[in-house]
Amino acid sequence: MHLKIFNTLKHSVEDFKPSDKHKVKLYTCGPTVYNHVHIGNLRSYINADVLKRALEFNGYAVDWVMNVTDVDDKTINNTIQEFGKEASVAELKTFTSKYFETFLEDLGKININKKDISFVKVTEKIADIQDFIMALIKKGYAYKTDDGSTYFSIEKYQKDFGDYGNLVGEKFLEGRKIGARVKVDEYDKDNLSDFALWKAHEQDNANIFWEHQDLGPGHPGWHIECSLINYLKFPEGTDIHTGGVDLIFPHHTNEIAQAQPIYKPFVNYWVHSEHIMVNGTKMAKSVGNFYVLKDLAEEKIADGLSLRYLVLQSHYRSRLNVTKESLLAAKNGYENIVKGVAALKNRLQDFDPNVGVVSDMYFEKFKDALNDDINTPEALAVFHELLKSKLPDDEKLQTIYKMDEVLGLNLENAELAETELNASEFPAELKALYQKRLEARENKDFDLSDKLRKEIEALGYKIVDTKERMQIYKS
Ligand code: AMP
Ligand code: ZN
Repeated sequence: MHLKIFNTLKHSVEDFKPSDKHKVKLYTCGPTVYNHVHIGNLRSYINADVLKRALEFNGYAVDWVMNVTDVDDKTINNTIQEFGKEASVAELKTFTSKYFETFLEDLGKININKKDISFVKVTEKIADIQDFIMALIKKGYAYKTDDGSTYFSIEKYQKDFGDYGNLVGEKFLEGRKIGARVKVDEYDKDNLSDFALWKAHEQDNANIFWEHQDLGPGHPGWHIECSLINYLKFPEGTDIHTGGVDLIFPHHTNEIAQAQPIYKPFVNYWVHSEHIMVNGTKMAKSVGNFYVLKDLAEEKIADGLSLRYLVLQSHYRSRLNVTKESLLAAKNGYENIVKGVAALKNRLQDFDPNVGVVSDMYFEKFKDALNDDINTPEALAVFHELLKSKLPDDEKLQTIYKMDEVLGLNLENAELAETELNASEFPAELKALYQKRLEARENKDFDLSDKLRKEIEALGYKIVDTKERMQIYKS
């Protein structure tokens, strides 16, 4: 089956055809580096990575670009909180670099190879952004106001192009008034307005600003960076542009509007990943209902690869509700896969992945699932069928490795490592001590709890206490 993908712009699943037969130009909206990213953000990058790997599976070379938002309202505010009211551009860069580094660490943990991505930091492209805005002014699509900021004119754009908001829906503008202005980076559909391309410097921005003889001192609005970076990297047009669904409006809608007066085609396929939810609400820093990978790893509730496994279990266009229980279930599920693959490897000491045979039957089914709008739950079902199958060990392992090129679960490195034991696996002597220690913990009898820990350890087990649970490992 040929690769099909849902294109938000067309509101339908389409056959994927890149502009160049062999190469795909892929752009992903990257992180705003003002804090640790949460696992909702990571879901959008895992989905982009799986898409990239699926493209490679189909024989394309992928050129993958990601912007890094290291200047916007949030990065400026947090820099000022850390460095004070005189904070400078240099301090903004120091502050955001720290969170760019933690982002790269997180990418490594979810098995995204940072070397596969060309990152572009916004603060390194300020002069290009200024030029881009000046070009929009010259063509009549942008105007400067009395407050010194420069805005994009939706009215002018709509008159010439007639497609503002098509990414949301073709009737997006019906019944809406245009002409008001909005300076903040984030706003909703009810506040449709001309948006800021260049924001005049204010006292609240400390010393974080860039000069320009026509635009005046200020910093770029959020949306312009992606139009510009796509243009710099892929001046002939981007094949696929990804991001979370919250970016459809206003961010991606505005990207299209800013870009098209300068160059067209801008983007051929828009691919949006649904949200991670908590109790029915989108996971977000602003709501405070977010989990950060580092904390989940400390609590032993998830690690990068088990999160990746959880994400693969849902289709990228479906919402994914997470709880600590579902994260833990994914961790156990992932550890079981690792155990199975490690045992298979142990049985095949002389296995050479360069000469093995891949099972056509499983491989074709797997590829069909992926090519059907990146149906990872279906692909995982085929993968599990393979694990349970009676294929000869070497063929099975070879096929596992082949599938893992897309799944990215790092199974080639599967080791029979220390894995947490399920209570159902406890031998009788451990079970009794475990129960007693649970009770001791509940009764806050710490002396007894310590004594029981030693007894359990003497049997050859390791205990990890978390806030919620007592975990037992074979040491
Ligand atoms: P930001 O750093 O806020 O620009 O977000 C980075 C990426 O994460 C964007 O593609 C967002 O659409 C995406 N994103 C934000 N919140 C969530 C969430 N709860 N679930 C999935 N993706 C999200
Ligand atoms: Zn963007």
